[in-house]
Amino acid sequence: MNILDEVKEAGTIGISGHVRPDGDCVGSVMGLYLYLKKACPGARVQAMLEKPADIFSCISQVEELCTDFVPAVEKFDVFIALDAEKSRLGEAERFFDAAGKRINIDHHISNARGSGDVNYIVTDASSTSELVYDVIEDKEALDADIAKALYIGIIHDTGVFQYSNTSPKTLRVAAELIGYGFDFSSIIDETFYEKTYIQNQILGRALLESILFMDGKCLVSMVDKKTLAFYNASPQDLEGIASHLRSTKGVECAIFMYQTDNMEYKVSLRSGGAVNVAEVASFFGGGGHVKAAGVTMQGTFYDIVNNLSAQIDKQLKKGQICTTE
Ligand code: AMP
Ligand code: MN
Ligand code: MN
Repeated sequence: MNILDEVKEAGTIGISGHVRPDGDCVGSVMGLYLYLKKACPGARVQAMLEKPADIFSCISQVEELCTDFVPAVEKFDVFIALDAEKSRLGEAERFFDAAGKRINIDHHISNARGSGDVNYIVTDASSTSELVYDVIEDKEALDADIAKALYIGIIHDTGVFQYSNTSPKTLRVAAELIGYGFDFSSIIDETFYEKTYIQNQILGRALLESILFMDGKCLVSMVDKKTLAFYNASPQDLEGIASHLRSTKGVECAIFMYQTDNMEYKVSLRSGGAVNVAEVASFFGGGGHVKAAGVTMQGTFYDIVNNLSAQIDKQLKKGQICTTE
């Protein structure tokens, strides 16, 4: 796909990504936004997203994101959904639905068919940011600000090139991107590794209160609403906890959940490969990747762990070893 061909007739272009935007979501939306603003000077380009975490304020023009979902345009000629299927766009879904032409660029295996009129879905790509790099065919138009946004997306979805979704191509794209000249070293530190005191405190609690089960193959931990309120923490402060739990020796599958309502939890699943967590999450209406997936579930903590366990057990019994993300 050459994104410029897809939007060349559009007077208005909207861009959005999923609810609770992560680094790949913010990076791909901002990278494409900065590029289209530059490449389509005659068009009105607007990007909308829930307010990104403060760490992403290093991305150029991130303050131009429409975070209240009251854009200047109601019906866009073209609307581009990134890093998500249509149903995860939250408030942006109605603009996607109303648009003259809908484009979906994503790498989630649970969205393999795509939700747009035109789709660019590559389920073994490291990140949507890597895919945005692909669809910008005119590399001459790239600059340090666009490259930085896309690089942030790639490092976040690959855990700084650690996860198995990192391919030789991912590294080649990253190499091209750092060639545009930005301080990649401080970006990795400041947006990925550095945690606030509160974030580390909650991580510590989650590790301390985690429970091993299924003969040590699963590890679960939960943060309730009261604890979140005590630390004045937002969901963005919980990023990385699930992966941290998964890195426990012998653990095939980690479950991290935080309470969103009286009987409702946002669940993050991480796997070392023996459990396809995309299938587990999809079974309950969520989705994601083979080794990292998410879902919102209703019930008590124990109900949810029981329900998830049954599906995880099924996966373990299949005895599959997944090597792709
Ligand atoms: P999380 O644990 O929420 O960070 O999500 C892990 C991965 O699964 C990310 O790539 C998310 O984009 C994806 N994901 C999380 N929740 C859902 C959902 N309800 N539907 C589809 N994908 C999801
Ligand atoms: Mn994402
Ligand atoms: Mn992604």
